[in-house]
Amino acid sequence: MSAAPHCSACDAVCCRLTVVLQPEDRIPERFTARQGGLRVMARDEQGWCVAIDGARMCCSIYDTRPGVCRRFAMAGPHCRASRAEYSAQAARGFSTPPE
Ligand code: SF4
Ligand code: SF4
Repeated sequence: MSAAPHCSACDAVCCRLTVVLQPEDRIPERFTARQGGLRVMARDEQGWCVAIDGARMCCSIYDTRPGVCRRFAMAGPHCRASRAEYSAQAARGFSTPPE
């Protein structure tokens, strides 16, 4: 059985998921976008949230990150699913950004 996922040994793949913002989130406009009528974290061409610190692969707004990000559980089912999808996309050459 493989070891449990840990953020210290991960490419922050959960930061390629759609992050829907709530009214209580205080995120600078330059990091946000509109998607289907929702306010979301904007993502770059490779699918990563634009708030990620690409050099260290960690959140550049960690202390004020959205509630969705705060609630995302390391090694939880969504973490494991996003890592599995990331691995599959890597095998395909990242032809499509995540949903
Ligand atoms: S929560 Fe999971 S997917 Fe996100 S950085 Fe940590 S180990 Fe990776
Ligand atoms: S706000 Fe931070 S924790 Fe949330 S997806 Fe973006 S980089 Fe990741």
